[in-house]
Amino acid sequence: MELWFTEEHTDYAKFSFKVKKHLYSEKSPFQQVDFIDTYEFGKVLLLDGLVMVTEKDEFIYHDMITHVAMATNPEIKRVLVIGGGDGGTVRELTRYNTIEKIDMVEIDELVVKASREFLPLTSSKLDDERVTLYFEDGIKFVEDKENEYDLIIVDSTDPIGPGEGLFTTEFYKNCYKALSDKGILVNQNESPYYERDAKAMLRATGKLKKIFPIVEVYQFHMPTYPSGHWLFGFASKSLHPIKDFKPEEWKKFNLKTKYYNTEIHVGAFALPTYVKEMIEAGVK
Ligand code: SAM
Repeated sequence: MELWFTEEHTDYAKFSFKVKKHLYSEKSPFQQVDFIDTYEFGKVLLLDGLVMVTEKDEFIYHDMITHVAMATNPEIKRVLVIGGGDGGTVRELTRYNTIEKIDMVEIDELVVKASREFLPLTSSKLDDERVTLYFEDGIKFVEDKENEYDLIIVDSTDPIGPGEGLFTTEFYKNCYKALSDKGILVNQNESPYYERDAKAMLRATGKLKKIFPIVEVYQFHMPTYPSGHWLFGFASKSLHPIKDFKPEEWKKFNLKTKYYNTEIHVGAFALPTYVKEMIEAGVK
């Protein structure tokens, strides 16, 4: 009997791939957590039935959520990761010996526990001595922080369920307060392609623009996310991701990256016309 996983990207578009084995299924207090082993994408983490991380394309997402900010401010020392339960974002951050502290605030301990078992590559650096894991709600965690971080990465699920509060004005204002003067916020910013994802992106980007002086959006190719055209937000108090970009400084880290490079750093911000116009027009 053939087993296929299907994710509904819209009411009229679905994405399916063939499954070797359903490896794990548990309901946490926050969400349904599943791992499946697949022919095309290797092991896949599903939260509430949605693709979060796959062995085959996680390198793209975790490169682009970390290295763009690090190449804009190579002096980043104190990092906060909100979400990121699979550990891939933390793994990339620990490659910088200049980073002194990484706090990871993941609401669901079950995601970390299961990722350690089924995604050993992405979760491989969660025990780095600079990493502190907090199994708490990231929304509350930032409420009382002031000038504590140089970089905040919101590696969250979509703006539904536990992740919904990570796309609010109040949360972004608390992140602004928690950041240093050269602080950068990178947020999971959905996609411009399907209507539901585009509306979420426009809402998040519009809120950030009211709080941060510098707000840009950058893109990357993510095969297993709806439409494959995925975005991160880049919000900063004083550093611009292109004007202040330091490619030569970044190259001195000598990091071998499979997706990120200093050319794609610039190219990622060259958005298609329809996306630029959508962002300029703002949320309807
Ligand atoms: N790369 C994936 C993506 O872009 O969809 C997401 C990475 S990770 C699996 C997302 C994590 O955010 C999940 O583990 C989820 O438990 C966590 N999360 C959701 N809401 C949260 C909150 N309010 N505070 C902390 N973590 C949260």
